[in-house]
Amino acid sequence: MAACIFCKIIKGDIPSFKLFESDKVFAFLDIQPLSKGHALVIPKHHGEKLVDIPDDQLAEILPVVKKLVKATGAENYNVLQNNGRIAHQEVDHVHFHMIPKPDQEQGLTVGWPAQ
Ligand code: IMP
Repeated sequence: MAACIFCKIIKGDIPSFKLFESDKVFAFLDIQPLSKGHALVIPKHHGEKLVDIPDDQLAEILPVVKKLVKATGAENYNVLQNNGRIAHQEVDHVHFHMIPKPDQEQGLTVGWPAQ
């Protein structure tokens, strides 16, 4: 969809810190991270809400989320997916947040080595 910011990121028209790409899935760092390593995993198919995404695209998303969790080494993390304004969805292209939670006790911040 031409006006969609995440479709523009997939096409490379808007820069992103890309973490993963396949024919159906794209993953990149969130521009306003809630923690170091906060990533977004999106289907390449444009759809506003979860129910708009074909099953074959959805099926490839959680394995990518899992890869990113393993890559951060995070032991504590949230996986979040918002649908609709009342549910705090701001960008109308389905996305899964993967948000590592820092280890408070040791004061460690879990995140991407490149950052
Ligand atoms: P939502 O509230 O679940 O829709 O989350 C949208 C997320 O997209 C927010 O965490 C934003 O920081 C993130 N975001 C918006 N624009 C960009 C961008 O251009 N690059 C990376 N992340 C973005």
